[in-house]
Amino acid sequence: MAIEQQNGHSHQNGVSTTPFPQRPIIILGAGIIGCAAARQLLQKGFQVILVAEYLPGDQNIFYASAWAGAAWHSAGGICDEYKYLQVVSHRHLLKLAQEEPEAGVCMVKSREYLEEAPGKNSAIWGRTVVSNFRHLKPGEFPSNFNCGWEYDCLVTDPTKHMPYLGKKITSLGGRFIRQKVYSLAELYDMFPESRIFINASGWGSKLLSDVKDDKCFPERGQNVFFKTPNTGTMYFRNGKEYTYVIPRPMSNGLVLGGIKQRDNLSPEVDMDIARDEIARAHRLAPEVVPSDPPEEDLSYIVGIRPSREGGFRLDSQRIGERTVLSAYGFGGGGYAFAYGVADALVRMVEDAEFENVINPDAKTVAVL
Ligand SMILES: Cc1cc2nc3c(=O)[nH]c(=O)nc-3n(C[C@H](O)[C@H](O)[C@H](O)COP(=O)(O)OP(=O)(O)OC[C@H]3O[C@@H](n4cnc5c(N)ncnc54)[C@H](O)[C@@H]3O)c2cc1C
Repeated sequence: MAIEQQNGHSHQNGVSTTPFPQRPIIILGAGIIGCAAARQLLQKGFQVILVAEYLPGDQNIFYASAWAGAAWHSAGGICDEYKYLQVVSHRHLLKLAQEEPEAGVCMVKSREYLEEAPGKNSAIWGRTVVSNFRHLKPGEFPSNFNCGWEYDCLVTDPTKHMPYLGKKITSLGGRFIRQKVYSLAELYDMFPESRIFINASGWGSKLLSDVKDDKCFPERGQNVFFKTPNTGTMYFRNGKEYTYVIPRPMSNGLVLGGIKQRDNLSPEVDMDIARDEIARAHRLAPEVVPSDPPEEDLSYIVGIRPSREGGFRLDSQRIGERTVLSAYGFGGGGYAFAYGVADALVRMVEDAEFENVINPDAKTVAVL
C-alpha cells in the first residue's frame, strides 16, 4: 500500500507535474466507511486521496474497523432509506464473497433466538434480503426463548478485509496520507484545489475543532476470539443478554461477545467481562463453545465503536465553494452499512460535481 506523508505539487519549465490533473476528492478517515467510499469512487473514475491517522492494517483501539465481528445483521428501528443502505451493502458484500476471496467475506448459517416475538419495525425486515430464511419450529430453538429464525449470513473478517481494501484502493490509483488533522480547515489548506471533502472520521468528529459534534461518543467493545475449526454458524440473541458468536472461517475461529461500555476508553482487557462473554456464548451455543475453552485457544479484542446519539450522520453541505459530505457515527453497524453508504456518497459527490458546474456560486445545503 502506497503511503505518502504529504501532497506534492510542482511545476517544471512551466509544465505541471502534479499527479492529479483532476481535482481529487479528499476523504478524512481510512476506516471501513472512508475506504469503502474510496473504492466505489475510484471505480467510477474519481481521483481520491485518503488522509488518516490510522490506515488499513493498523491495530489501534480507536480504529474501530480493525476490530469488528463483523456480521451483516439487519438493524431494527431504522427508516426505509437506511434499510436500503443495508440492502445495497449486502449486495456488494455478497459479490465480494463470490468473486474476491481475498476480501475476507464469507457466507455462514445464522441462528437467531428471541426472548419475545419480533415487534413492529424489528430486525426481521432483513428476511427480504438474506437467503434461505426460515422460522425455527418449537424444539429447534432453546426452550427459554419465544421464537427463532435461521438464514444465510454474510460475515466479514476485518483482519483480511481492511488490508484487502488498502491494496485495492492503491491498485485503483487512490492514495493514502498518514496524518492526524485537528480541523477540516487544515485539509482545505492542504488541498486548495479540491472542492469535495468527505468526513469519515468516526469518533474523530467530536474532536475536530470545526465539527465538534457533541452527539458523538465512544462506546467500548471487548470480545473473545476463540480458535476453533467449528466456524459454520453464527449465533445471535437479543433481549436480556446481548450475545453473539460470529464466525471468522478464514481466521479459524469465533468472535464471542458482546458488550457496550459508553465513554470507557480503557485499552486493558477486563477478564471479568471476558469470562462472562465465554459463559454467555456457551449458554447460547453449547454445541460450538465449551464452558471452559483452553486458554491457549483464546485471545482478546478491544475496540472503540464510533457511536452517535440519534444515529449516524450522512449528509451533504455546501460551504462556500466547497462541499463537505459527512459520514460518521456508525457505532456497532459500520460494516453492515458501509457499502450502501459508499454508493450514497458517490451519488452525493456526483450531485456536488453537477452543482459546481451548473451553479458555481450556490450556497445551498443538501441533505440525503
Ligand atoms: C468489538 C466490535 C465489534 C463490532 N462488530 C460489528 C459487526 O459485527 N458488524 C458491524 O457492522 N459493525 C461492527 N462493529 C462496528 C464497526 O467496527 C464500526 O461501525 C466501523 O468500523 C466504523 O468505521 P469508521 O470508518 O466510521 O470508523 P473507524 O474505523 O474508527 O475509522 C476512523 C478513521 O478516521 C481517522 N481519523 C479520525 N479522526 C482523525 C483526525 N483528526 N485526523 C486524521 N484521521 C482521523 C482514523 O485514523 C481512522 O482512519 C464492531 C465494533 C467493535 C469495536
